[in-house]
Amino acid sequence: MLHLAAMTKHDIPTKPGCSRDRNIGDNAPQPVRALRDWLDHLAARDRLTVLKPGVDLRFALAAIAKRLDGRRATLFPKPGGHPIPVVSGLISDRGWMAEAMGVEPGELLARFQEAALDPVPWQEVTSAPVQEIVHRKVDLAQLLPLPTHNEHDSGPYITAGLMIVRNPRTGKQNVSIHRCQLSGPNRLGVLLLPRHAHLFFEMAEQRGAPLEAAIVVGIDPLTLLASQAIAPVDVDELEIAGALHRRPLPVVKCLTSELRVPAEAEIVIEGRFLPGVREPEGPFGEFPQYYGERGDRHVMEVDVVTHRRDAIFHTVGGGGLEHLLLGAIPREATLLAHLKRTFPNVIDVHLSPGGTMRYHLYVQIKKRQEGEAKNIMMGAFAGSFDVKHVIVVDDDVDIHNPTEVEWAVATRFQADRDLLVVPESQGSKLDPSTRDGVGAKMGLDATKPLSAGEMVFKRIRVPGEENVDVERLLAETGGSSWRDVVKG
Ligand code: MN
Repeated sequence: MLHLAAMTKHDIPTKPGCSRDRNIGDNAPQPVRALRDWLDHLAARDRLTVLKPGVDLRFALAAIAKRLDGRRATLFPKPGGHPIPVVSGLISDRGWMAEAMGVEPGELLARFQEAALDPVPWQEVTSAPVQEIVHRKVDLAQLLPLPTHNEHDSGPYITAGLMIVRNPRTGKQNVSIHRCQLSGPNRLGVLLLPRHAHLFFEMAEQRGAPLEAAIVVGIDPLTLLASQAIAPVDVDELEIAGALHRRPLPVVKCLTSELRVPAEAEIVIEGRFLPGVREPEGPFGEFPQYYGERGDRHVMEVDVVTHRRDAIFHTVGGGGLEHLLLGAIPREATLLAHLKRTFPNVIDVHLSPGGTMRYHLYVQIKKRQEGEAKNIMMGAFAGSFDVKHVIVVDDDVDIHNPTEVEWAVATRFQADRDLLVVPESQGSKLDPSTRDGVGAKMGLDATKPLSAGEMVFKRIRVPGEENVDVERLLAETGGSSWRDVVKG
């Protein structure tokens, strides 16, 4: 008899151009590939609140989104009277992210890393929903519902826009998210940190040329997440989105440039970064819960805005969970892969919410060797300059529960023996306790010593505790009062 599994595997038909499609079986949940499908998914699970029309774009919208952050996504019809609705809080929960990928929460980092390492080239289409409506006379404040988020923000911002630019030498695209301040009717002040988009701009500016750019607003959660991948230069993050979708991403050529943008997006803003021009931008409420300061920043001039006939605008509240998680998951995936290369006994990592999902890293290990935790800390500091404090724990500690991690520090850590401090290292410039990004690193080894006697670090446990069905118990305990019981 033929081996059925082997036969099935070889019999999967492969169409030309679709050879990179992943067959993941009929019963496996599919990844979510469109924003509108994701809104349906949230609504069906009662996680999407549709507000009354007309919420003010200045603060009121952000205030409501923030209060519901992590529990419910929000949709604001006619915000400030504007015809385009605004959504927020679309992926402000780790479990939701896993659902969007079609995996279990425990597989989230591995799945993201797999996609980042094996991108799927996009597929070009000639007509796209995102180009249904074309505005060639641009007044951004009039065309788009731009919210103002935090108290001292300099004004309205685009916060959830995928910035797409091309390497002037190789033509390869880059996708990243930047805060974009409304600076004039067709002018945006953009913070370009020294990464890929900034590098491409410098290459253009050195020749005195502008850098073409497109900002994509309103996109599915996985493409949004892919934009945050820590990928090498000349890896187009839209191809990582294709890998997360398990299908090539449909893209369309921009009207004014060679850039390719997701065809299914809601809104695209096309323009150019101006060489030799810097204008004031900020302050703006950032992920550490402080303001990023005002400074002279890059300027994008907008030529065209295109959108769907019934477009939706997405905004991410500065410092909200959606903001934090979008950055945290790709960072965790990269740090985990980085640590596992040298330390195969590292099980999991977590960037904790209290540590702004950037500065505090919890590492769970299966300890084999004394001193190893300190090597792992040094590996983590080298893996991302944002990582400031590292706590290493054993495999019996739940690193997604800060109380458990604190318990491990309280009972397994001694400062004179288990503390590592590295002074004057590179950190985050947005950490106000550093001197312009220079500060100390700290590592805490909260693992048990291997030599300890068996009962010394034995965690107490009530036998059968984990099997108690609390809901059923409460339902079964009728209405007897304690007095009846005591009287007998
Ligand atoms: Mn990149």
